[in-house]
Amino acid sequence: MSDARAGALLADRSSGPIEVLAPQMALIVTIDGPAGTGKSSVAHALAKRLGLRVLDTGAMYRAAAAIVIDHDLPRDDVEQILARVRDADLHFDWKADPPVILAWLKPMNERIREADVNELVSLVAAMSPLREHMVRKQRLIGKQYPHLVSEGRDQGSVVFPDADVKFFLTADPRERARRRVDQLREQGVIVDPEEMETKLIARDQLDSTRADGPLVKPEGAIELDTTNMTFDEVVDRLEAHVRAVVGDRTAS
Ligand code: C5P
Repeated sequence: MSDARAGALLADRSSGPIEVLAPQMALIVTIDGPAGTGKSSVAHALAKRLGLRVLDTGAMYRAAAAIVIDHDLPRDDVEQILARVRDADLHFDWKADPPVILAWLKPMNERIREADVNELVSLVAAMSPLREHMVRKQRLIGKQYPHLVSEGRDQGSVVFPDADVKFFLTADPRERARRRVDQLREQGVIVDPEEMETKLIARDQLDSTRADGPLVKPEGAIELDTTNMTFDEVVDRLEAHVRAVVGDRTAS
């Protein structure tokens, strides 16, 4: 790209991929928050608008839970679970949209969204040695792909404490349950909203009280209560904030 063209693109920070706007600049954006706040869909939409990759860290913990179930591993044998998860060499195929998580090179995207995985994932995610392994993998991914929107529970607090922009999304539990129920209905699965709310609250409780990488609002994170916001409003708000930060940095 000629200097003149790069200059023109840098001047227009209101749209377009940030990688193109500032290719020399690493940019890690973290989005944390409890289940059902829309983190995953928001992260994908934001990443698409900005030309960044998405790291869905929940998918990694979900894949670990699926491995425990499918390999019938004893649920209290952390060493055996860790060994099997290591062996699976969890990684993402970024060429697919959305990216596909692979275990032993086998795509897991559908398996990790099934009900039995939902039930077990927070228990597996509370295992400290497994978390250490995942945190190491996630940091490595951040090094390999330094233009990233990383979403989960501990991304701004533990994995990328020096992230350029950190968000913490929240929403009323009833609204979160309603969103999940609607999502499932679109996939042909009918779930009772009250039952869903109870399950989400139980998962939040497990995620926020574990010893390692608990769900917390990361220091320096911008908190956004999305209860009364539309999906587009949330993405617009996050996008504007990231662009403002990048704008300030390129101007200075
Ligand atoms: O975001 P998602 O619902 O896919 O996450 C599934 C579960 O994985 C969470 O409830 C949590 O127990 C675990 N998780 C975690 N740390 C992350 C991402 C997810 O403990 N960074």
